[in-house]
Amino acid sequence: MHGEPEVAVLRLAHRPGRDDRMTTHVGLTARALGADRVIYPDNADQSRRTVEDITGRFGGPFTVELTDSPAGVVRNWDGVVVHLTMYGERVQDVEADIRDAHDGEPLLVVVGSEKVPFDVYERADYNVAVTNQPHSEVAGLAVFLDRLFEGRELDREWTDADRTVVPTETGKRVVPTDEAGDVPDGSTD
Ligand code: SAM
Repeated sequence: MHGEPEVAVLRLAHRPGRDDRMTTHVGLTARALGADRVIYPDNADQSRRTVEDITGRFGGPFTVELTDSPAGVVRNWDGVVVHLTMYGERVQDVEADIRDAHDGEPLLVVVGSEKVPFDVYERADYNVAVTNQPHSEVAGLAVFLDRLFEGRELDREWTDADRTVVPTETGKRVVPTDEAGDVPDGSTD
């Protein structure tokens, strides 16, 4: 988040067709919950375009990159590597250590899709489980980022949005961002 060491999310692999929505949602979740960028395998260009489109409309800063070597990104990361896996240590046991390690150091959060090569487990500074039960990379990422930021990401400010959602008790309210400051929360005018 702004003013803090970078948090990047790496989608380790992408199976076109089967993973399309999940890969897009990894990026949207990374963006919404405080990461600074997502890195996709280079066969996930459609997901890149979708996440960039959302960032253009709802704000950033957030960047999307493609790589021809996700494994190389992990291997060469100059900072802390967290790999999310159901086989790892419990997030509630290691989150404080990870925050300390991330103090001044960029953090890479790695999520898989198909079977994750063992090198990733070995290179990771932390293999982290959000419960030791199988579920989803999107759910694991959301809980991990919220734990990492201790909820601060929920209050982050967005820049360069052309529209802003006004929280309302019922219904949907979206206004041009330059008018959003004039609208009280919950207004139904
Ligand atoms: N079958 C694959 C394997 O054995 O590595 C994993 C498939 S899983 C649907 C896809 C990704 O979701 C995993 O690579 C991991 O990043 C994430 N994931 C699933 N369950 C998780 C859990 N309990 N904690 C953290 N991450 C999890």
